[in-house]
Amino acid sequence: MKRKRVAAMLVEPRRFELREEEVEVRPDQVWVRVEACGVCHSEMVFYLGKWQGMRFPLAMGHEHAGVIEEVGSDVRGWKVGDRVTCLPGPGFATHVATDPSQIARVPDGLEIDHALGEPLQCAARCARSAAVEFGDSVFLIGCGFMGLLTMCGLVGNGAAEIIAVDTNPHRLQLAKELGATVTLNPKEVDVVEETLRITEGRGVEVAIEATGKPEPLEIASRVLRTPRPKLVLVGWHNVPATYNLSHWANGAVVHNPHPAYSLNPEEDIRRGLWAAQKGIFPMERMVTHRFALKDIGRAFEMALSQEDGYIKGVVKPNWL
Ligand SMILES: [Zn+2]
Repeated sequence: MKRKRVAAMLVEPRRFELREEEVEVRPDQVWVRVEACGVCHSEMVFYLGKWQGMRFPLAMGHEHAGVIEEVGSDVRGWKVGDRVTCLPGPGFATHVATDPSQIARVPDGLEIDHALGEPLQCAARCARSAAVEFGDSVFLIGCGFMGLLTMCGLVGNGAAEIIAVDTNPHRLQLAKELGATVTLNPKEVDVVEETLRITEGRGVEVAIEATGKPEPLEIASRVLRTPRPKLVLVGWHNVPATYNLSHWANGAVVHNPHPAYSLNPEEDIRRGLWAAQKGIFPMERMVTHRFALKDIGRAFEMALSQEDGYIKGVVKPNWL
């Protein structure tokens, strides 16, 4: 069967266009109305036209959730009205066609705008990798959506300290409210010095880098204790940069945020959705902005500027 949808296409750096297109939906697929799709910082490199070899127009969006509108004749186990996430892209579109094997069910009681399967599974994977032990000190640099979610997954595990670092005072305040024991602003203090002082010179057992930028990764690497500290990369380091690997010579165990790193992706998804449903991942405090599909450009600009208390924006493709 053929169905129509409207998708936002990036036609040049920092400019989207809405396009209507026809999609073939096979009998073994479901047709899903997309209710929400998160704006992800890993997509900024495309939005700004900085990805080498990229081509326009480009369809984007990988953090979407929606409701099944039609079920193919060969599909079993799913029905119209079922709420689903972890869909294949593009998420910045009114609908997607997908194989049921690729989707996850949204738990009851979890608002659809909060059921952003891909980042939830990623935060669950990062929190699982961090595996904080009783009495560990934890260091988080980058108090945006992913950093804070990962931190929230660790609060209550008996950490001695959770040291949260960001240059944005609003985000530091939020980190404190969500369980950070100390907040540090690199504009005001020497973060490495302060962290070593707080940990009486030992450094931290677990450092989480959640900015995707080289300098914060350098700072996170310099506060690691010896031996065998854990360095959890939450940020996506997707452009070439220079790193000083000598900071990892103390036996650092580096964890990777990529899905291919996971030993058990389905379990990451299940735990991520569970944490959102239980409020362990406090999505009502995280999803701060909602945009219609035609305003997708504004959504990306807000994500860049972090103005107006922005933590996470979702695009609502079926809002007119
Ligand atoms: Zn993402």
